Amino acid sequence: MKTESYLDILKECGATLKGHFLLTSGLHSDTYVEKFKVLQYPLLTDKLCKDIAEHFRKTKPHVIVGAATGGIIISHSIGRLLSTRSIFAERENKNLVLRRGFDIKPGERVLIVDDVVTTGGSIYELMDLVTKKGGILMGIGVFIDRSGEKVNFGDSYFPLITMDIPTYKPEECPLCASNIPLTTRGRTGKK
Ligand SMILES: [Zn+2]
Repeated sequence: MKTESYLDILKECGATLKGHFLLTSGLHSDTYVEKFKVLQYPLLTDKLCKDIAEHFRKTKPHVIVGAATGGIIISHSIGRLLSTRSIFAERENKNLVLRRGFDIKPGERVLIVDDVVTTGGSIYELMDLVTKKGGILMGIGVFIDRSGEKVNFGDSYFPLITMDIPTYKPEECPLCASNIPLTTRGRTGKK
């Protein structure tokens, strides 16, 4: 599948919202990607995850790890496609940790996956977690990279869709300057 058709899928699902958004990273943007508009369709999600799974199949991972919430769905889909374990990290006192009996054993080959990368914060945390557990990082596969090439995850990084979307610091935001109302998206318990 080509990037244009991936972007078409996002548009058709209504996942690409236009307006003035406060992102989880604290930055502002005129575009918000509501990945759950896509993830609500399991078969479509599997179709997209298949391209990530096939990219990493040769690395023979033992376990796929994502971060709650969207990363759980992507990790499961890829785990199913590659016949591996699928686990997820979640926030406890602001840190991403493994709970629920999940573990990564020393020497296990690990594939990190995530839904949308903006600043890459969650991925860097997951990389740290895998390293501390003694896991061997085989790669990083993400659904959408909207970081504007600001992240550096090394050679084994594979974003399925790369979107060039400007983000602004609040004090430099042209939408704020135009007094366009700010919408908070992507934060637990808020809309
Ligand atoms: Zn703004």
